[in-house]
Amino acid sequence: MGVKNLKGIAIQGDATFLLPDNKDYPKIFEEVHKQLTDTDMMSKYHDLGTPINVIPLNKLKALPVRNLQQTSDPDIAGISGEKFAEVALLRNNACAGCPVGCIHIGFVRERFAKENRYLYRQVAYDHEPIFATGSMLGVLDCFKVLDIIDVVERMGLDVMSGGVALAWATEALEKGIISEKETIIPLKFGDSEGYKEAMTHLAMGTNEFYQTLSKGTLVAAERYNGKDFACVLGQEMAGYATGEVFFTSQALGFRHSHLDSGGYAFDQKTEEKNVGKAVDFLIKDEQGRVFLTSMLACLFARGAYSDELLGKCLNSVGYTDLAGSMADVSRHIQKLRWRTRVSTGFDPRSISIPKRFTEIVTWKGTIDTEYLQNLKDEYSKKIIELSADDNKKTEEKT
Ligand code: SF4
Repeated sequence: MGVKNLKGIAIQGDATFLLPDNKDYPKIFEEVHKQLTDTDMMSKYHDLGTPINVIPLNKLKALPVRNLQQTSDPDIAGISGEKFAEVALLRNNACAGCPVGCIHIGFVRERFAKENRYLYRQVAYDHEPIFATGSMLGVLDCFKVLDIIDVVERMGLDVMSGGVALAWATEALEKGIISEKETIIPLKFGDSEGYKEAMTHLAMGTNEFYQTLSKGTLVAAERYNGKDFACVLGQEMAGYATGEVFFTSQALGFRHSHLDSGGYAFDQKTEEKNVGKAVDFLIKDEQGRVFLTSMLACLFARGAYSDELLGKCLNSVGYTDLAGSMADVSRHIQKLRWRTRVSTGFDPRSISIPKRFTEIVTWKGTIDTEYLQNLKDEYSKKIIELSADDNKKTEEKT
C-alpha cells in the first residue's frame, strides 16, 4: 500500500441490521458492559492505561533501556504511568462506544513569545511510545518523552520504529561505526532535544544516512555494519524484553507485533523451558486473537470475552452457526492468514534474531540461546504446517 502511495482506507456504513426477535441482546449487552466497567478486569486500562506496565517490567528486568543495553533503570519512575497521571495527564479518551476509555492524553507546552506566552498541544501516550522515545533512548522525564512523541506525531513517523532506529544510531555513534557526519547532531542517550531534531531528520531524509535509516533499522545496520545490536525482531522491537518466547513470537509472528500472540505474558508466567508447551501457547493464543479481531473486539478486553461469553454474544445477534463453531472458524482464519503470508514470500526459517537479544539479563537470568533456537525451529515448523493448503493435500491424496 505504501508503494502505491495509499495513505488510508475509509469505510462508511450506511445500513443497520435488525436484531432477532427476542430479548437476549440487551441482557448480554448489560453483562458485557458490567464486566468492562464494574470489575477489576479493565480498571488498569481505565486508570493509568497501558503505561501501568512500565514499573512492573522495570522491576522484572524486562524493559528495553538504552538500545537494550539494559533491561531496567533505577530512575524509571520519571516515565512511569503513575508519574504521567500525576503531572502530565490532561484527560482520557475512548474509541467510539467504549466505556473503558484507555486512551490517555497529556500535554506539551511551548513558549512562543518572550512575554510568557505559551501554547499547548495535546499528545496521547501509551506504553509503547513511552518505551520507544523514553527508556529506549534513555530519556526518563515524562514531559521530555511527550515532547519527542509530539514531534513524531507531527512528522507522521511510526513511533516504535523511529525510537528504536534512533536508539541504534546512538549506540552506533558511541561505538564509532558512524560519525556526526552521518547523524548531523551528536546523538546521546538522554538528550531529548537532540532526539527531537533527529526525528525531523529521519522524517525528512535530510542526508543519505537518515534516508537509509528511514528504510528500517536493519537496512541501516546492514549498510553501516551494526547488525549485532539492531533491536529488530522482524521489525523494530516492542517494549518487552521478557525473554526467549517473546523474542520468538515477535520475530516470527504474523505481523511481527506483540499483539499477534502474547509471548511476553508466557515469559512472565513461567521459568519452565518447555518448547512444545510454549509454541502450543503461541498458536492457540493467536487463534483466540484472530477471532476477536475478526469480531472487531478490542484486544485489551480479551480477558472479558471467554468462549462462553462470545458464544452468547453471537447467539444474541442471530449468528448461531458461528457460535457453535468458533474453534473451527478461528483455526480456519489463522490458517488463511498464514497461507497468504507464506505464499507471498515469508519464510520463518530465514529470520534471524540479532545478538543483542541474547546478551541481556532478565528476571530468569541470562538468555538461553539453545532454548531460543529450539523455539524458533519449532515455531517455524508449525507456521509452515499452518500455511499448508488442506484442500490441496486432500486432492493430492485422492
Ligand atoms: S476500545 Fe480498547 S483501545 Fe479503545 S478505548 Fe476501549 S479499551 Fe481502549
